[in-house]
This record gives sequence, structure tokens and C-alpha cells, in this order.
Amino acid sequence: MKALVAVKRVIDYNVKIRVKPDGSGVDTANVKYSANPFDEIAVEEAVRLKEAGIVAEVVAVSIGPAGCQEILRTALAMGADRAVLVQTDDEVQPLAVAKILKVLAEREQPGLVILGKQAIDDDASQTGQMLAALLGWPQGTFASKVAIADGRAEVTREIDGGLETVSLALPAVVTTDLRLNEPRYASLPNIMKAKKKPLEIVPVAALGVDIRPRLATLKVEEPPKRKAGIRVADVAALVDKLKTEAKVI
Ligand code: AMP
Repeated sequence: MKALVAVKRVIDYNVKIRVKPDGSGVDTANVKYSANPFDEIAVEEAVRLKEAGIVAEVVAVSIGPAGCQEILRTALAMGADRAVLVQTDDEVQPLAVAKILKVLAEREQPGLVILGKQAIDDDASQTGQMLAALLGWPQGTFASKVAIADGRAEVTREIDGGLETVSLALPAVVTTDLRLNEPRYASLPNIMKAKKKPLEIVPVAALGVDIRPRLATLKVEEPPKRKAGIRVADVAALVDKLKTEAKVI
């Protein structure tokens, strides 16, 4: 069985995001990019399934500009066998990504497509769900455990009241939650080996998918600045302020 893993290039989570002065978006000049953290978890899970002899080949896919190759090389260094970059400089919203991944899934015929539960730049949390719907495949979202046996995936999900376990017939779509695993660091020899692994570049136009955005961004704003706090003399003063000023007790 093959596993297809979607890896998005996002602004690194350590970078302090700067909003453009005209509010049209985020300033991306000279920022560091990395793989979306949930997607590293997705790659790790696929590689572990390969190491367990359940998955035969791990294919990493990214959709975006040429710079995504770097992110795919990291996935290859973590243990993916080959990579596909669907190249475009246009904005690709979750629906467009899901449509592209559907075409790739039809081409690659994986038993499992693994995505992150959410991209940390748009926070949409939509792509995996849309992909499952477009393919007509079952989905196990926000997975904190995945077990494959007898042509089915048992996916444990973290939900409000505790844990839910769903059993999906393969092929299926799984999206990863934070506690699924701890991704490995790529070792230097594996980084060197990854340079020789196949990375196919497919221009988005070759897939015949309509990727026009369906949503318009009206305005991007910084969150309001927090007001400075004050120091109170003692607990009694704190309780008094909570009662009379904040009116929370
Ligand atoms: P989102 O729905 O945007 O929060 O993204 C959820 C997941 O979909 C991500 O964690 C990725 O696994 C996948 N994904 C979204 N956009 C892309 C992209 N441009 N390239 C590859 N994978 C993507």
C-alpha cells in the first residue's frame, strides 16, 4: 500500500508575523519557511507505517512555489521515498488544494492520504475533509493514534468529551493531531541521501484543475495590543479589584 502525504510550506512558527501596512496580507519578505508542523507529524506517521511493513511507499506532495522543494527534501530526508511538487505561484485555497490532491490520489492510488489537521498560516482545517468528500473516501480527522489492519484503519480522535475511535475502510483520508507522534529530526546522512531521491515537478496547469480562489481576504490586522498590567500590594487588594473593577467575583 502507498501513502500520500501532503506537506505545506508555511512561515516558520518561530517567526514574528508582520502584517503589511495596507492590511492586504502578511509580509513575506526575508521570512523563514518550514514544513507545517502537523505535516511533519503526517510524514513521520507514514514513515513509521513503512518501517512497520504496512506501507510500501511514501510519497510527499506539496503545492506552491518552487521554494516548496526545500520542504519536500526535508520530507525525503525523514524517510519519504519520493516527492511531487505541484508548482504554482498563485494563491491556493483549501478547496483548490483538495482538488489537486484528488487528481494526485487518482493517479497514485494510495491506500492512505495523510494530511495535517490544520495549516498554521491559514488555520483553515478544511483540506483533508474536502479531499475525503471529493474522493468519496472515509475520513479520520484529528488522529492521535492510527492502527492499520485487515484493509481498515482504526483512528483514535481527540474530541471534547474524551477519545473517539473510528474504523475506516481503506482507502481513506487521515488528518494528524499534535499527539499522534513526535517527528524525527533528519540525520545528516539522510539529508545527503534525500538529495538523490526523485522529486517530480508538475506545473499546476498540467492537472486541469480550476484553482481560482473562492474566498477574498478583506483585511488582515494585528491582534490588539495587550494593555500593561499593574502590581497590587497584597491579596486583599487583588480581591477588591476583582470584585469592584473587573467584577468577575
Ligand atoms: P488547511 O485546511 O489549510 O488548514 O490545511 C490542512 C492540511 O492540508 C495541511 O496540514 C496540509 O497537510 C494540507 N495542505 C494544505 N495546503 C497545502 C499545500 N499548499 N500543499 C500541500 N499540502 C497542503
